[in-house]
Amino acid sequence: MPETPRRIAVVGAGASGTLTAAQLLRRAAALQADLEVWLVDPAPTTGDGVAYATTAAHHLLNVPAGRMSAYPDAPHHFVRWLARRAPGAHTGDDYVPRALYGEYLADVLATAVSGPGPGHLHRVHERVVGARRTDHGVTLTLGSGKALPADAAVLALGNPPPCNVWVPPALRHSPRYLPDPWTPGALERLPCDGDVLLVGTGLTMVDIALTLSRTGRAVQAISRHGLLPQPHAESPLSAAPPPSIDPGADIRRIRRALLSHISACRRTHGDWRVGIDSLRPVTTELWQHLSPADQAHFLHHDQSLWNTHRHRIPPASARALRDEIDAGRIQVASGEITDAIPTRDSVQIRLRDGRTLSVGAVVNCTGPQADVRRMDDPLVAGLLTTGLATPDPTGLGLHTTPSGRLNPADGTAPAALWTLGPLRRGALLESTAVPEIRVQAHALAATLLASESGLHMSLPHRSAFAPSGPPEHQLASGEPA
Ligand SMILES: Cc1cc2nc3c(=O)[nH]c(=O)nc-3n(C[C@H](O)[C@H](O)[C@H](O)COP(=O)(O)OP(=O)(O)OC[C@H]3O[C@@H](n4cnc5c(N)ncnc54)[C@H](O)[C@@H]3O)c2cc1C
Repeated sequence: MPETPRRIAVVGAGASGTLTAAQLLRRAAALQADLEVWLVDPAPTTGDGVAYATTAAHHLLNVPAGRMSAYPDAPHHFVRWLARRAPGAHTGDDYVPRALYGEYLADVLATAVSGPGPGHLHRVHERVVGARRTDHGVTLTLGSGKALPADAAVLALGNPPPCNVWVPPALRHSPRYLPDPWTPGALERLPCDGDVLLVGTGLTMVDIALTLSRTGRAVQAISRHGLLPQPHAESPLSAAPPPSIDPGADIRRIRRALLSHISACRRTHGDWRVGIDSLRPVTTELWQHLSPADQAHFLHHDQSLWNTHRHRIPPASARALRDEIDAGRIQVASGEITDAIPTRDSVQIRLRDGRTLSVGAVVNCTGPQADVRRMDDPLVAGLLTTGLATPDPTGLGLHTTPSGRLNPADGTAPAALWTLGPLRRGALLESTAVPEIRVQAHALAATLLASESGLHMSLPHRSAFAPSGPPEHQLASGEPA
């Protein structure tokens, strides 16, 4: 990669890609650097990704608005945007509809594009199906076969879709089985006769159960443990300092120290949530110091409990869920499917404990899978095959350097490829929510445009790029795929 990249491709226009593109343009403006950002995603919208594409008013952010600013250095940015959009309607403590957040992200990028800097954004509505190293950086191959050469690329691919390996083969291709409830329009196509079985009892299940629940239909939700996400407190909590834990301690000592810290916070602040939330600044450090065996132990034994307490649901969602459970329209239990036989008008389910269920449809609410080797994505599969990327040793996402650069397989030189967001969970553990992603996007822009003083002056290789002109022309005349 040249020292000062001037064309950066960002693959994925969800929150991670949109924030990265905005940060790159913002930084280019500050440096008065001539930069092209190519944001590539087949989605018709920009900013929504999976989480914010929903239009359902009851699908709320699970983080208060006051913590959802796009910019870590402007913490009130989102709340101010909300105030401009609907004066007096929201405070920073509110859990606002997710659809609003998608709108906000699109606006954040539009504002960065229209800013005073010389940077340009090209939005390409295509899937990236391959990436290879070149003398000048990387060349991406698009679904249409066109090539997009760039000095560097950021893979903002988001959460891998849910895993389907647990699905009995007879059910896998049935129209009564929905493999990913966040596929646009998928819930509307679900057969509407009969009860529905949701597999998974986490955040996705809560949203989907509240969407599907109605009089005359039972929504049953099962998972191995049957644990529901905990609700946020009804009113804001005061903060506690993080516990002082030796990062070199083993998992058992850390667990004991955390439990005693949480008990202490319950005594001093009246709520266990204060203890969990106080861990944010130290979570990654503790995770990174665990031995591989202890990391595996945590993922196997502690992860479910951690997730249900760390990733909570808004109080309004918790109340709505409780009302539906009390009315008998939603049932939550532990259970594991061992067999499923779709018939013409139902699916007959057998659970491990011998119980049987008859439902009209089964929805996979197990949440994103972590193992990139199971992703059905030609780009990721190609990177793993060529050794330009490797799975993280923990099994969570891709193996990355501290700056988010993809770690290649042994003996392969690193390519100019970076990632952020959910694919960095192996390195950081917590890397899925906006408060983490916005920091990564900010840091990534700084890394990619690192040569602050020299950037504008050292842009000598224009001929190394596709000729200028409209984006379509540039793509068509780029390197052949
Ligand atoms: C239902 C749900 C609700 C959530 N709610 C919150 C919340 O309230 N607050 C919070 O902080 N976090 C929330 N999250 C966490 C969420 O992970 C982040 O907030 C954020 O949306 C992640 O954005 P992303 O861009 O990394 O991923 P995604 O939103 O998954 O976007 C990835 C994008 O990459 C594109 N893409 C993938 N592969 C390719 C390819 N090969 N070529 C081109 N494009 C590609 C996809 O089309 C997609 O648009 C939620 C997550 C989910 C799933």
